[in-house]
Amino acid sequence: MMAATHRPPLFNLCGGHAALDLVNSLDNRYGARQPLERLTDYAALLRFALESGLVDARRARQLAQVTTAAAERAVRSARELREALAAALYARLDGRSPPPAALRTLEGHLHRAARHRELRWARGVPGGALSWDRGRYEARAELPVWLLAQSAGELLMSETVERVRACDADTCRWLFLDTSRNHTRRWCDMKVCGNRMKARRFQARHEA
Ligand SMILES: [Zn+2]
Repeated sequence: MMAATHRPPLFNLCGGHAALDLVNSLDNRYGARQPLERLTDYAALLRFALESGLVDARRARQLAQVTTAAAERAVRSARELREALAAALYARLDGRSPPPAALRTLEGHLHRAARHRELRWARGVPGGALSWDRGRYEARAELPVWLLAQSAGELLMSETVERVRACDADTCRWLFLDTSRNHTRRWCDMKVCGNRMKARRFQARHEA
């Protein structure tokens, strides 16, 4: 039984958007050392979905019961989505078009996310209204991947994508949504990269 809600967060969600935090889950992507995989297994993917608010604790506990094979497939799929997203977003930041292979992969993920949902008639609003719902697909292992793909698609196709930045520390380059009023945010996390860079400049001044 998972007690996820009572444990300290496993992921640093300073990206401010689930799709960007997903990209950051491969840590040290641009560092000198080997990248560090934070989506280590399905439990980690569920923790990520829970901490990002994509699923609630009850759903996460239910999904923790899926078969090992389904769980492994979902983790591979989440990493595949992440790398396609990373390729597209970093290319955009570098002023290039996304690699065609990344686009095709994203397309596949968006198709699957769109296919695994049901059209419902919501009676809560006056006169009723149509809405999409995960319905019978809610307990499937890939649910977090579909939700992430949907969220990523919405970001990439909106004007908000212009607010996506990479952390100024070149060994970091974590992605975040710059929601500061003057669009001047430079660091993924002031506590991590901001302080590290300030310390480095301080050191450089005093060694000169
Ligand atoms: Zn950073």
